[in-house]
Amino acid sequence: MMEHMLITKKPQELIDITETVRKEVEKSGVSEGMAYVFVPHTTAGVTINENADPDVTADIIAGLNKVIPVIGNYRHVEGNSHAHIKSSLMGASCCVMVENGMLKLGTWQAIYFCEFDGPRHRKFYIRVV
Ligand code: ZN
Repeated sequence: MMEHMLITKKPQELIDITETVRKEVEKSGVSEGMAYVFVPHTTAGVTINENADPDVTADIIAGLNKVIPVIGNYRHVEGNSHAHIKSSLMGASCCVMVENGMLKLGTWQAIYFCEFDGPRHRKFYIRVV
């Protein structure tokens, strides 16, 4: 298992971590298997979506904010309930098949670390099996 650090710069952003995962697959020597990505945070997540047009990730954040506003009638005193909800919606993990030593992603797919309560020092784990 490899631990990776990430410093997020915005309150909410999607950061492409595909290259980091791809390098771990390469280092692992696994040719047929699975690459697991796990985010050990309750206000961040991981998702797979389009990498070609950066407007897509901007629209994902805008869409989430429309459904789950930053400021709302929440009970959690820490004031970041929106980030906890978005974290659960995106999920804490994703897995991608590895075939011929390469991530089996679609042409337009990328793996994104999702920050919902930044900026912060974050980490994520990758395990290739
Ligand atoms: Zn909280």
